[in-house]
Amino acid sequence: MTGPQAEAVIDLDAYAANVAALRAHVGDAQVMTVVKADAYGHGSVPVARTARAAGADWLGVATVDEAVALRASGDVGPLLCWLAAPGAAFAAAIDADVELTASSVAQLEEILAVAPRRPRLQLKVDTGLSRNGALGAEWSRLVEAAAVAQSAGRVEITGVWSHFACADEPQHPANDRQEAVFRAAVDEARAAGIEPGLRHLSNSPAALTRPSARFDLVRLGIATYGVPPARDLDHPVELRPVMTLRGRLAAVKRVPAGSGISYGHTVVTDRDTTIGLVPLGYGEGVPVAASNRVSVGFAGEQVPQVGRVCMDQLMIDLGDRPARVGDVVTLFGPGDDGEPSALDWADACGTIGYEIVTRIGGRVVRSYVGGQS
Ligand SMILES: *Cc1c(COP(=O)(O)O)cnc(C)c1O
Repeated sequence: MTGPQAEAVIDLDAYAANVAALRAHVGDAQVMTVVKADAYGHGSVPVARTARAAGADWLGVATVDEAVALRASGDVGPLLCWLAAPGAAFAAAIDADVELTASSVAQLEEILAVAPRRPRLQLKVDTGLSRNGALGAEWSRLVEAAAVAQSAGRVEITGVWSHFACADEPQHPANDRQEAVFRAAVDEARAAGIEPGLRHLSNSPAALTRPSARFDLVRLGIATYGVPPARDLDHPVELRPVMTLRGRLAAVKRVPAGSGISYGHTVVTDRDTTIGLVPLGYGEGVPVAASNRVSVGFAGEQVPQVGRVCMDQLMIDLGDRPARVGDVVTLFGPGDDGEPSALDWADACGTIGYEIVTRIGGRVVRSYVGGQS
């Protein structure tokens, strides 16, 4: 048997189906698919191409460099970015028809100072995440400064937007508060003479559960990758995991009862058993926190991971199952090989599904099935 010893298989048909199901769910709102951080570890270029083909109205990334790189890969169509420190490649982004976000007056002024031509800009208000965006009086100053620049023909303001803090907890009181602050911020922009254009506030969990917050567009990341934003979120959209992480057994050995497994001997076998060696470790983004807490799929069944996860490799306890070097082990995915989901791994590791898929990289080979690739 040949093939990579460790691979992340990216199912672009599943991705396209998730985008289509989410588009149908949000009705008239436009959809921005978020492909930052190398498409949450799935590969931004093939994912972006699939998103456009699946009818995404917009693409979104965090940094200016991500946006410019996407353009260099051949991407065309509406594209927004939103996170920049001073000195970011604003001019290159404007040249490449990327829409930028201004989160402060200083940022607006820097963008206008370096713009090679009139830029299209969106304004971000902080409605309660205390992360990026203009807060309170700074929002008032930002809309005033943007209105002055727009009347002078120096900028075109195309949108006003914000981001939820607790949308994965639909009952959290912060959600209503943020939505109210957002509506007031939009009113304030209008009063200052800025027609807000595209108004958007919702991420995946809000788009799934909160119709009142859809406005003109929703920004969808994690749900498009088929990872539920949280356990037990109540919604009717069927999502299929896009990433399957798997490896092939590099060694299989019978060990006697009383054998210590991996660094620190965190597990000592209580019986004779078969240990399988999987060539994936924290160098590939498998969390050390997963040690002794997760299962993997093997021949349609879940078997436990045992011992501390190493840099390059991890062990699984195959019991008395027949197993051979080269056999496939599926760490997480849609469940076709009995494997748990990325969300199961996240729960076991005390983290979020977002982190499990996004951190996968290192020596993992990505292969693509389906889609336009
Ligand atoms: C990452 C991000 C999103 C996507 O969030 P999901 O929860 O993955 O849907 C949307 N908006 C902004 C500003 C983001 O940074």
